[in-house]
Amino acid sequence: MAFRPSVFIFDEPTANLDPVGTLEFFKTVESLKKTDEHTIIIIEHKLDELIHLVDRVIVMGKEGVKLLEGTPYEVFGENSDLLIKNGIWIPQTALLAHKLVQNNIKLNNIPLSIDEAYNSFKKFKPLGNGLKRENCTELTHHSSPVLDIRDLSFAYDDKEVLKNLSLKVHKGDFLAIIGANGAGKTTLAKNIVNIIHPPSGKVFVEGKDVLKIPTEELCHKVGYVFQNPEHQFIKNTVEEQLTFGLQSRGFPSEKIVNWLDSTLEKFKIKQYAKSSPYMLSHGQKRLLSVATMLTLGQDILILDEPTFGQDLKSSNELLTFLKTLNELGKTIIIITHDMNIVAKHAQNVLVMAEGEAIFNGSTHKLFKNNSILKKARLTIPPLLQLSVNLSQYYEGWNGMATVEEYVNALKPLKQN
Ligand code: ADP
Repeated sequence: MAFRPSVFIFDEPTANLDPVGTLEFFKTVESLKKTDEHTIIIIEHKLDELIHLVDRVIVMGKEGVKLLEGTPYEVFGENSDLLIKNGIWIPQTALLAHKLVQNNIKLNNIPLSIDEAYNSFKKFKPLGNGLKRENCTELTHHSSPVLDIRDLSFAYDDKEVLKNLSLKVHKGDFLAIIGANGAGKTTLAKNIVNIIHPPSGKVFVEGKDVLKIPTEELCHKVGYVFQNPEHQFIKNTVEEQLTFGLQSRGFPSEKIVNWLDSTLEKFKIKQYAKSSPYMLSHGQKRLLSVATMLTLGQDILILDEPTFGQDLKSSNELLTFLKTLNELGKTIIIITHDMNIVAKHAQNVLVMAEGEAIFNGSTHKLFKNNSILKKARLTIPPLLQLSVNLSQYYEGWNGMATVEEYVNALKPLKQN
């Protein structure tokens, strides 16, 4: 901004920002727009808090082809089918409306913002139960934790980054670690996998001090997907990158070839098999880094911002895949800024602020705790905000945070 250009192009400017940072950035864009002196072009996946500022949308399809162009309403309101089919993000309220229409619930228009959705939905009284978070019982664990962090403090030189942090994670948990930029989330993950060394007697994996577990053994117990996928690339081609883990475990070559084929297919990177991992787009690099990590079959997976830069389809596929692994008993820990993912997938959350664990508990309790949310620069997901607004009108709306919960609550309407 210091150069005062007449045209700004922002390429996924909020990708690594915490939720409040994202809102602050969009406010800056709003004030730029108000001056009427700039042309602003934003390449963005997160549309919910941005769409009200946008005059015109261009949707890029595969291989550089323009799929759609028009006003936000023409694109997201009239073409939600096409966009969803092509795996492209649309505002959460439009996604919800799309699903309701599929369930024969009539709406006058496709809302693109929480305010518009509020106006369309307030005529309804939800009859179903949704999936009321309050009804979810918290799990009590009797087994010993697979990951036990006891009063961990850590400093880079003299800068203290983790402060007396304790955490227990049990087999089969799906935990989200969230908090402001710089809160210490990545540093915590790196301590767990011993990339940076914790003090002794502080981090235990399956009951053993992580410092005493040989590196190779630890790599087979805990998988870590780095925040920056490039940090994981150690081979010259995508194919080599994907197979070295299986080769090092002595898998027969026939099995490796089959696995490679299905993985290249599944992650849609087949045509890049012989290319350098660095030639992939950011989203594809992310998928490759996840796929590479999965080859070792670890029981605990830690993923630092796994869906950052992904389109809707890849993000959904990745999360469905993680959920399947979780149902098979794998322990999943994700670091994320995406509150929709937290609402939909995480049973528990660890909230960090300035190196401390300021909340550790169920997701639905967190979303009711405004002081923790504020302290950690978090927001509640857009659909939960909609349900809070609607509940002032009719109490039965309270507590819904995902499309599925709304659909379940509203489905019985069509019988009435
Ligand atoms: P988060 O993942 O929550 O954004 P990080 O763990 O990356 O936070 O960083 C926590 C703090 O530690 C930040 O203030 C960051 O600047 C600092 N930090 C991270 N890595 C290093 C490093 N290698 N050397 C010195 N300081 C670091």
